[in-house]
Parts: sequence; C-alpha cells; structure tokens
Amino acid sequence: MAIAPALGAGGCGFKSRLPDYFSDLFYWLIKMSSFTKLSGNIIIISAPSGAGKSSIINALVCSCNDMVYSTSYTTRLPRKGEEHGKNYFFVVESEFRKMVEKKEFAEWAKVHDNYYGTSKVLLENMLKMGKTVLLELDVQGGVNIKRRYPVACMIFIMTPDLKTLEKRLVERKKDCMKTINMRLNNAKKELRSLEKYEYLVINKNLNDSVYAVRTIIKSLNYKIQKNNGYFVKHWEKIKWC
Ligand code: 5GP
Repeated sequence: MAIAPALGAGGCGFKSRLPDYFSDLFYWLIKMSSFTKLSGNIIIISAPSGAGKSSIINALVCSCNDMVYSTSYTTRLPRKGEEHGKNYFFVVESEFRKMVEKKEFAEWAKVHDNYYGTSKVLLENMLKMGKTVLLELDVQGGVNIKRRYPVACMIFIMTPDLKTLEKRLVERKKDCMKTINMRLNNAKKELRSLEKYEYLVINKNLNDSVYAVRTIIKSLNYKIQKNNGYFVKHWEKIKWC
C-alpha cells in the first residue's frame, strides 16, 4: 500500500481521495509505531526471600534466549558474590533519589529498609527488542508495574508453608536472625496480597517450578491481544459475509 499523492492532485476530486488518504496515513502511522512498540512480554515474579525465585529466574534466563532478567537499582550493600550490573546496580541513596526526581524509574519501592527500582529505559529497550523480561519485584513494585503496563503477567512463588521458608532462610546463611525474622514478617504481609496476582507456583521442587513458570510464559504468546497484529496483517482484506 503506497502513500497517497498530495490531496487534490491528479484526476480525482478532493472528496473522493479523502478516505484513501486517511486510510493510507493511518496504515503508515500504525507501521511506524510498530518499530517503537513494546512487543515483548513483562513477567512480574514476586516471592518472599528464600522462596526460590532467583533460582527459577536464573534457570529460565539460562535456558531461553529470548528471556532476559531486568537488573534493578538498589541502595542495599552487595552481598558476597553479588556483582554490580549483574545482580543489581548498587548505588548510594543520593544517586537513587536523583533518579527518582528525574522520573527514571518505571517503579521504585522501599523494601526491607533499602530502596529498589526498575529503570524505565532499560526495561522498555528490552521490550522493544521483543524480549520476555523477567522482573523480580516485591508486591508494591509488582502492582505498580501492572498499573503502568497492564499486559504484564503477575506470578507469585511460595514455599509449601512458612516453616519451609524459615528453614530455607536459615540454611542459606545469608542473613542474621534479626533480618530473617523481618523477612518472615514481610512474607506474611505479602501473602495477604496474593489475590492481586494471576498465577501462584508452589515451589516444592525447582525443576517442576521452572517448568510451571515457563508454561505460563509460553501461554502468553497465544493471547488474543498478542495475535491481533497477525490477524490484522493476514486477514484484514477478507470481507466477512
Ligand atoms: P534482596 O535484597 O533480597 O535482593 O531483595 C529484597 C526484595 O526486593 C525482594 O522481594 C525483591 O523481589 C525486591 N526487589 C528487587 N528488585 C526490586 C525492584 O526493582 N523493585 C521493587 N519494587 N522490588 C525489588
């Protein structure tokens, strides 16, 4: 379909060219917007610390080329083995505040006494590349991302019960008892927000949970909203009787 020549040019009168002109213009506007369209998927994964979300996310990112992890900014100090730019972008509070003022975050929140935020430009660049972006967020962050990007899919991961969660937190030896208790209390609070999520995966076994989350993500590609573009491209010319 070509762009219509200037209005009134050639043999056709202005009135008869008008609808053509507009439909062509509309077509090109849609086509141009598809280059900047956020065509990827946003997957919000929330879980209490220790429920196994990082292991699930790592397994997914390592096994699927089109899945990427959204590295957040945080004011928390790096734990042993954590790398700047990989696990998080570790920044001081003044830098984080500047980013908040400049509206550089798609969402941000205070979690366990530290600030965490998702860079809007990093997230949207990955979406424009058609990637499935996995965001590891607390519940407030998840809700805020869903409000901003309503097509985002929300998955909650949980251990079979709170006792198992406590056991995992103690066994991983990352935090002191005071921090563990704070994380357990936060877990109880977060569980009250479960109904805001679309999917719940009980992480009894890592392989089963990875399979479950991958299946949920795969199903998103069959959503009507996702396939509407295909429909418009291939079927639009058919006249329904
Ligand atoms: P941790 O300090 O254990 O890495 O993470 C603590 C909590 O912060 C986890 O619940 C994690 O999901 C959440 N979190 C990590 N990054 C972000 C983020 O960018 N935004 C929000 N809202 N929460 C985050």
